[in-house]
Amino acid sequence: AQIINPQRPVYRFQSGGKIPLGLKRKGLRIVVTGGAGFVGSHLVDRLIERGDSVIVVDNFFTGNKDNVMHHFGNPRFELIRHDVVEPLLLEVDQIYHLACPASPTNVVGTLNMLGLAKRVGARFLLTSTSEVYGDPLQHPQVETYWGNVNPIGVRSCYDEGKRTAETLTMDYHRGAGVEVRIARIFNTYGPRMCIDDGRVVSNFVAQALRKEPMTVYGDGKQTRSFQFVSDLVEGLMRLMEGEHVGPFNLGNPGEFTMLELAQVVQETIDPDAKIEFRPNTEDDPHKRKPDITKAKDLLGWEPKVALRKGLPMMVTDFRQRIFGDHKDMGA
Ligand code: NAD
Ligand code: UDP
Ligand code: UDP
Repeated sequence: AQIINPQRPVYRFQSGGKIPLGLKRKGLRIVVTGGAGFVGSHLVDRLIERGDSVIVVDNFFTGNKDNVMHHFGNPRFELIRHDVVEPLLLEVDQIYHLACPASPTNVVGTLNMLGLAKRVGARFLLTSTSEVYGDPLQHPQVETYWGNVNPIGVRSCYDEGKRTAETLTMDYHRGAGVEVRIARIFNTYGPRMCIDDGRVVSNFVAQALRKEPMTVYGDGKQTRSFQFVSDLVEGLMRLMEGEHVGPFNLGNPGEFTMLELAQVVQETIDPDAKIEFRPNTEDDPHKRKPDITKAKDLLGWEPKVALRKGLPMMVTDFRQRIFGDHKDMGA
């Protein structure tokens, strides 16, 4: 059964509606695990801007203090260096669980945050992934599709970890009455993205800026659908505030082959940027594109920023970080 806490009002934002005019909304206490990371830090910006109190829990495994430094000194902001694999005691209203190294610790961290949600009656949102669909046999992917994942492949640890995290989330919902939300996030890009973690958009952009050839894996005909980070954050907040558990696909249905992506990067950065082909990894999904009908219908959400609009904003940020004189960033 869906347990709704009657003490905690439901808020609607942007599209407006639920908060009576003139009535000031009471701030929530919100934990964002992984809040010093790429997506998390943008989410924190929105929550702080909205008037909430935010506790970031991060072990800086891939995240960086620089991503949230602009909030230091704000009494509504707190940063805790902590590994979510260890238990954590806090008093909060909502938990956005983004912390996730691509490893089995994913599962333990999710379990701890669900335990926390259960103890304090907080609403818990899991950032799952389109990877739960594996190398999909259905295209585009609908939430009802169970996926095609190789349990012993090179990328299985991440995929299966997230699938297990979804299972745990639903078990805590059904068994312990925890209010949960599940987002299945498709490839997301934007400012503050890790420069060197090997994702395709960050690789191509960094390579083109450094005048290195863009490395296309395989024949480059595999597809992905790229979502700008502000669209994702809007979707995550609507999901958290709304009344539907999910899972919801959050992604931009605009589908590109890697060769097309390389072309957009050429248009945006350098028409003379070269392409270099490299062998692809095993089990690389051939195509991926979200069906977002469910999010449109139930969350009133759809992405607004097309790749050609979003990429320049990321390029500005990458240019600064690669060529700027900022201390612990850069090439
Ligand atoms: P990110 O690596 O930038 O952020 C993850 C953050 O979690 C980092 O700040 C890292 O330091 C922190 N972290 C990792 N392990 C931790 C631990 N054990 N304890 C505490 N903190 C820990 O990644 P992101 O792109 O911002 O992704 C955020 C979430 O969204 C992840 O759960 C990821 O799986 C999911 N997701 C992202 C994408 C995408 O395209 N960016 C796609 C699908 C799903
Ligand atoms: N947990 C936590 N913070 C809390 C409550 C629980 O980190 O505020 C952890 C706890 O250490 C345990 C996990 O969450 O490892 C699951 O907790 P739950 O109470 O559901 O399970 P139990 O402890 O009963 O096995
Ligand atoms: N890829 C590529 N060149 C790179 C990095 C990745 O061609 O430098 C390809 C990769 O083989 C995959 C796609 O880009 O087909 C997306 O890879 P990424 O790791 O960004 O995301 P995911 O595979 O998790 O969707």
